[in-house]
Amino acid sequence: MERRIPEVVGVRRTGWAALDRDPQQDVVEFTCPHCGAKGQKKARRERIEYRFTDGFLQDLQGEGVQCHFCKQSLRVVPVVMLHDQDETKRFEAIFSEHPLVHAE
Ligand SMILES: [Zn+2]
Repeated sequence: MERRIPEVVGVRRTGWAALDRDPQQDVVEFTCPHCGAKGQKKARRERIEYRFTDGFLQDLQGEGVQCHFCKQSLRVVPVVMLHDQDETKRFEAIFSEHPLVHAE
């Protein structure tokens, strides 16, 4: 039996949304579905490999990661965030309603 690995949406900030951080630091932020700890990982794929879905650039393949806190596996599906305010609202509207709908 294959163990099901939970998926979470990760946020990859760029442009205006990343002004407060080191531009060299291109990370995906996520919240662990097991223990609720906040984590981040270096973004693995180039943004050109992301797909435009639901109005956002997303990496639908996701990236496997282990929570640094509880050590359990999860899959992060990164979403690129360009701007903070309007986009954050849109982001929350879409992903709070159906958190992991993938157009496949
Ligand atoms: Zn955890």
